[in-house]
Amino acid sequence: MTRLTVLTVPDPRLRLKAEPVAQVDDEIRTLMNNLMETMYADDGAGLAAVQVGIPKRVIVMDLTDHYPTLKPLKIANPEITWRSKETKVELEACLSVPDQCAPVERHLAIKVKYLDENNILQEIDAEDLLARCFQHEIDHLDGKVYIDYVSPLKRQILIQRAQKVVRMKK
Ligand SMILES: [Zn+2]
Repeated sequence: MTRLTVLTVPDPRLRLKAEPVAQVDDEIRTLMNNLMETMYADDGAGLAAVQVGIPKRVIVMDLTDHYPTLKPLKIANPEITWRSKETKVELEACLSVPDQCAPVERHLAIKVKYLDENNILQEIDAEDLLARCFQHEIDHLDGKVYIDYVSPLKRQILIQRAQKVVRMKK
């Protein structure tokens, strides 16, 4: 496996709309594994291919800390097929906006269909944190970052703070 470099705001590549994959083959499985390794190395709970500069609709998530029975998820072509009317505001963070967080309103529950690492179609009912993570990661595939949900002024501050963190880590 290879650890990849996570792009950070305001990198324009984070704004690309990702293309669906034709099928989950060995190339996509390798990408999924590399995303997993990168996510674990950076202590994240989710990572989208867009965040490493690969505009394909592929994401990985690991929420086993919160859902002990849920295995790490390797996901291609996710599609939200239902959203609850009820929403909830919680703090979100993102490896592309290092060391920052902000409150974001998301649908409390959703249904998602996707292809797993074996190219098998799966459908999952997600609530709370799992639903939030799916919405956050699927946003990345459409070129959206969670800071888009805060005011322009707050967004500018978050970007500046994240840039400062990146500079200090170099
Ligand atoms: Zn993110």
